[in-house]
Amino acid sequence: MNLDRADERRMMVQTQILSRGVKNKRVLRAMEMVPRHFFVPEEFAGVAYHDHPIPIGHDQTISQPYIVARMTELLAPEEGDIILEIGTGSGYQAAVLSAMGARVISLERIVELVDGALSNLQKAGVGNVSVFVSDGTLGWENMAPYDGIIITAATPAVPSILIEQLAVNGRIVAPVGPQHMQVLVRLTRSTEGIRREEYDGVRFVPLIGRNSWNS
Ligand code: SAH
Repeated sequence: MNLDRADERRMMVQTQILSRGVKNKRVLRAMEMVPRHFFVPEEFAGVAYHDHPIPIGHDQTISQPYIVARMTELLAPEEGDIILEIGTGSGYQAAVLSAMGARVISLERIVELVDGALSNLQKAGVGNVSVFVSDGTLGWENMAPYDGIIITAATPAVPSILIEQLAVNGRIVAPVGPQHMQVLVRLTRSTEGIRREEYDGVRFVPLIGRNSWNS
């Protein structure tokens, strides 16, 4: 992976992520490794490591670094896990999961963003990520069941088809709630059923598809 601007990433991890309580060493290492400046439009490259989301076109955004780290910590991907991401956007979250040793399948409904994400991933030297143009609210049956599923857009509820595609001991992390504010929810599947936990309040762009918002 490209190591330019490593000092800015170290600073980002210290002041925005570790300071807010994300302690998982593998997550911190991945956030230090992935060159976020390759995943933002050129005019925002200067502020790529700042503490806020950044527009990536088509009314979409790449999340704030802390939120990416927090969701990754909740998802807790292990080396070799198969992870489904709904909402590829820039490809940055997928790159962080790949840096942790996961095999990533990422779905995005806007074809131009898929093209952009593939080019960002290639420039950054990230492998092990497959991106498809698809309505992620339908899941991706081909590679199921998944060890983890991460939804990076706001949804009124986690679509049940995604829960069906989750392996035993698998986790789903998603911003759940109305369009103006959500809470990070983690669902964990065990042989006994599904456990639900709630975490930080967040604000994401809407998940638009057959099993979520219509627009
Ligand atoms: N994870 C991204 C940020 C995601 S922004 C990153 O790291 O940059 C949310 C993304 O979800 C947008 O790109 C939006 O187009 C996409 N999206 C919304 N509804 C979707 C759906 N039903 N299926 C797939 N992608 C969807």
